[in-house]
Amino acid sequence: MSATLIDGTAIAADFRAKAAQAAARCLAAGRRPGLAVVMAGDSAASRIYVRNKIKACEQAGFHSVSDVLPADLSAEQLLGRIAELNADPDIDGILVQLPLPPHLDSRQVIEALDPAKDVDGFHPVNAGALMTGAPRLVPCTPLGVMKLLEHTGMALRGAQAVIVGASNLVGKPLFHLLLQAGATVTICNSKTNDLAAHTRRADVLVVAVGRPGMVTGDMIKPGAVVIDVGINRLEDGRLCGDVDFGSASEVAGWITPVPGGVGPMTIAMLMENTIQTAQKRLGV
Ligand code: NAP
Repeated sequence: MSATLIDGTAIAADFRAKAAQAAARCLAAGRRPGLAVVMAGDSAASRIYVRNKIKACEQAGFHSVSDVLPADLSAEQLLGRIAELNADPDIDGILVQLPLPPHLDSRQVIEALDPAKDVDGFHPVNAGALMTGAPRLVPCTPLGVMKLLEHTGMALRGAQAVIVGASNLVGKPLFHLLLQAGATVTICNSKTNDLAAHTRRADVLVVAVGRPGMVTGDMIKPGAVVIDVGINRLEDGRLCGDVDFGSASEVAGWITPVPGGVGPMTIAMLMENTIQTAQKRLGV
């Protein structure tokens, strides 16, 4: 391996320590920062994600509420619960764990959130603010990717950045963040012709698709910074990313591992966003 490893776990630990200090300042100013995580149904993966988020927040001294609602709850029941959390003075941030059961319209549910408490940054008000260059609450995973890029010290201004994957959760918000940082950004999707021709031009390559090992070393520009957002569970139970780490780490200059790359940063950025809303609401 010739690439330098970007240790997301260690970088996230620094953010978490700072979040704990900020939480103590909030408490001194009146109360702890409060996060509510709402989950409908009982998917094993969602349960693990929710548990990790709640655990991290509690360790940092946040007040946290975890709602595991039945999978067959009605839209009215879920919207009613969101209205309660919107009005709850002890809750600064609300996160709805996606995906929701198929009978629920996630767009309607996200639009029901108070945008000022939308710590996932998915509400159209927050998405629009990001797109127009005045970001408020920014989605946690793309924000975490930007912090990892900052850590490498790489100048984004003028760099060629290529994102593989164009979801509302990851690829699209990241497109705007990179653009605003001065990069020239290409975003690829499932219809892209000759994907490798794009990825080979990238000084910064971010892959967020959900296909194990789809980007291989021969698709990477020597010395590039490679950020692997993908989380895939293999048949033997192991986790892997969308980048073939073995071949990619021989070519890249910097690379994130999976696990231990973007994943821990997503949780750290959720804490950052919750602190941001708590400080605003507490006036500190
Ligand atoms: P998603 O909503 O399924 O979007 C996948 C994107 O990849 C779509 O834009 C799709 O294109 C594109 N795509 C599919 N096949 C492609 C191909 N062959 N070439 C180029 N693009 C292709 O997924 P997501 O929610 O963004 O998640 C992506 C991955 O990141 C998953 O593994 C997920 O588990 C992981 N993830 C990790 C974190 C973390 O904290 N580390 C957070 C969120 C997500 P179309 O638009 O044309 O369909």
